Amino acid sequence: MNKLTRVVVTGGAGYIGSHVVLALGEAGYDVLTYDNLSTGNRDAILSGELVVGDLADKDLLIKTLTEFNPAAVLHFAASIEVGESVSNPLKYYRNNSVNALNLLEALRVTEIGQMIFSSTAAVYGNPTQLPVTEEASLQPINPYGASKLMTERFLSDLALANDDFRYIALRYFNVAGADPETRLGQDYANPTHLITRALKTALGIFPQLQIFGTDYPTQDGTCIRDYIHVADLAQAHLDALRYLTSGHSSTIFNCGYGHGFSVNAVVSMAKKVTGVDFPVVETDRREGDPAALIAGCERIRKDLDWRPRFDDLEVILHTAWEWEKKLATRDA
Ligand code: UDP
Repeated sequence: MNKLTRVVVTGGAGYIGSHVVLALGEAGYDVLTYDNLSTGNRDAILSGELVVGDLADKDLLIKTLTEFNPAAVLHFAASIEVGESVSNPLKYYRNNSVNALNLLEALRVTEIGQMIFSSTAAVYGNPTQLPVTEEASLQPINPYGASKLMTERFLSDLALANDDFRYIALRYFNVAGADPETRLGQDYANPTHLITRALKTALGIFPQLQIFGTDYPTQDGTCIRDYIHVADLAQAHLDALRYLTSGHSSTIFNCGYGHGFSVNAVVSMAKKVTGVDFPVVETDRREGDPAALIAGCERIRKDLDWRPRFDDLEVILHTAWEWEKKLATRDA
């Protein structure tokens, strides 16, 4: 097997990771997923092999990397909830920063010199200018963003010190939707993200949807986010991997569409797509939420020639809705 086609994906059993594993498989890569299955599902891995392991287990990590000998590692495994990061910050610093450090040390030991890192728009905090470009100041307002920024710092310092290590950090905005062929989607025990909560409320799984804050300095008072379809994000990873393995320098790309929707707009679209007028209540702000996040996405479009195919809120909700209905049948 050609070394260039082999990649290790940490967190490949999770929501975004599993979509990327599928896309990698379809593109002809030989994939090994390394995942502790704490939130991911074995059934979500539709390509390649799985090693059930924790990033804290450095011996297993080094053994796995040595044996599989990938050209690059794509690192998804992380904790991802802003609200939880505020109440349990150490979990975030351990899972997102300390474990990433373990992975980087393992990469040095095994002489693997290319990594794609799942970062987040939360590194920007409350941006002063929208859309927010990659050069904007980095002032996270919650431990989730801070824990991811710490790892970006590890990466940039490591690449600066070693010519044989290069990376791409992808700063995700709000990832949503599901595989358009309904093979995969979000499948967590206690989902907290807006679109998933809204659709599960439409299905009657939750009694009502809460809107966290209506007094933000936005047009309708609710927070604005740039929702990106998970299949377009998966494509961005393939494009980034090709870019990195063809020898380009380390860099960072925002992943979003460059426009946003308010919570109210998402709720209206969820009601339209599902045909269900589900109950909604307005409650207090959730701690750690910035008012608005919209990606400046010139760089990824230009440098990676990234061409999104699902830049449409209705399509995002429709694919997620098809997936939620499938899950509901499975779990019935
Ligand atoms: N949100 C909400 N109700 C929910 C979940 C989220 O009003 O049940 C809001 C949240 O406060 C934020 C936006 O929806 O303004 C997006 O939140 P989400 O958790 O989906 O993603 P995040 O931006 O935190 O990564």
